[in-house]
Amino acid sequence: MMGRGDGSTLFIGGRWDKADEGRSFPVTDPSSGAEIGHAADGGASDAQRAVEAAEAAFPEWSGQTAYRRAEVLQAAHALMLERQEELAALMTLEQGKPLKAARTEVRYAADFLLWFAEEAKRVYGSTVPSARADQRFLVMRQPVGVVAAITPWNYPISMLTRKLAPAIAAGCTTVLKPAEQTPLCAAAVFEIFEEAGLPAGVANLVTTSRPEETGQVFLGSPVVRKLTFTGSTEVGTLLAGQAAATMKRLSMELGGHAPFLVFEDADPVHAAKGATLVKLLNAGQACISPNRIYVHRSIMEPFAAAMTDRCERLRVGPGSSGADVGPLVDTAALEKVRRQVDDAVSKGARLLTGGERLVEDGLGDGSFFAPTVLADVDASMQIYREETFGPVAALIPFDDEDEVLRMANDTEYGLASYLYTRDLGRAVRVAEALRFGIVGINDINPTSAAAPFGGVGLSGLGREGGAQGIDEYLDVKLVGLALR
Ligand code: ADP
Repeated sequence: MMGRGDGSTLFIGGRWDKADEGRSFPVTDPSSGAEIGHAADGGASDAQRAVEAAEAAFPEWSGQTAYRRAEVLQAAHALMLERQEELAALMTLEQGKPLKAARTEVRYAADFLLWFAEEAKRVYGSTVPSARADQRFLVMRQPVGVVAAITPWNYPISMLTRKLAPAIAAGCTTVLKPAEQTPLCAAAVFEIFEEAGLPAGVANLVTTSRPEETGQVFLGSPVVRKLTFTGSTEVGTLLAGQAAATMKRLSMELGGHAPFLVFEDADPVHAAKGATLVKLLNAGQACISPNRIYVHRSIMEPFAAAMTDRCERLRVGPGSSGADVGPLVDTAALEKVRRQVDDAVSKGARLLTGGERLVEDGLGDGSFFAPTVLADVDASMQIYREETFGPVAALIPFDDEDEVLRMANDTEYGLASYLYTRDLGRAVRVAEALRFGIVGINDINPTSAAAPFGGVGLSGLGREGGAQGIDEYLDVKLVGLALR
């Protein structure tokens, strides 16, 4: 068997094969710009083969018992944990995050395999009383069919299992197109599926440097009944439009612009610690990253000082070197961050620390940006509206609860939000008023395989994880039964 799981081949219908045109593309380490391998460059015909393989596998897989499907996912869970070190090292190399964060992500990814192995057995239906004595209603839930998944580079393993585990658990068959930056992590996950005994065709992998071409095949195919996508709002809205023609079900995890509210009764040093941790998660390249940090004017000074101090103490460098903060994904990401910082400073923001690309100490070949704190940010600045996806904390003062709620909700996005307060009434009031899919109250990590993750507004549709996560892959069928 050739190139098994090393990225140089696609995985279609249970076989590792070169792309039809025999093309491949280079994969690089964002810490050094060095080439670390090649991935098969799938095209339209490969995407079509993958859809056909998924279609062919559907009758058999959807006909398996939930117990059988759970067994395969449990085996994949065990394998993923066994390979935690190896997968984490690959992720750090390909995506850049610090090794410790990569290990955490592998465990998080494995959590979805186990969670949905368990949920497979809880796809309950119901009965509904009829107004007629001689009629019964049964409500069943059945797999939607072939699912296409398109995933991003920032969480290159957990975003796969968050989609594929519930789809597989529900009895769907799948085709995945991972991000062009992280095809090797995807191949490693598929190797696990294969070893766990997932039958041929249930999960198919098409790596490519040409996402649009593959996307067109998935989106245009009437066989694909569902698209699950994580990525930018720009691409997500485009794909949702294309999915309309064949009326596919959609799950969309798109961009965010999270507000982080620190009220006057919060401990500013504790809140600054939390804000720094979540801001610098994955070097700021997370859709739940706080993009607007609102701090009550009376505690702004100690908060800003504590955050600046923490940022200055963090070590930035290659993820494999024990650094706290890794590189950005590429130089385009660096440029975007720099543009937002320059724009804010030109409009009156104060740069408390950072603000520049790091090139000393051998960092010049990678895309490293210094952890940055900007004070006095206001609504006139690009950073106030645009997602940053980099290690820049934008601090904005406020004076009262109504005002900060208006500002926090003044965005088209609606994924994560955070608030720090010790006042219980305020915590509940504000959590209820925030128009976001996720609220962390004194909590910077409100995520778990067991909890529903997702946004409102331009942050997307549907929920991943939790009891809700499997609903996305099930259709409801009503059976009416006349007794005579
Ligand atoms: P990011 O800006 O975080 O890279 P994108 O939305 O561009 O986010 O990418 C997320 C995923 O969407 C990736 O797998 C990427 O290859 C894919 N993608 C980007 N453009 C298209 C497209 N036109 N059709 C299908 N997939 C696409």
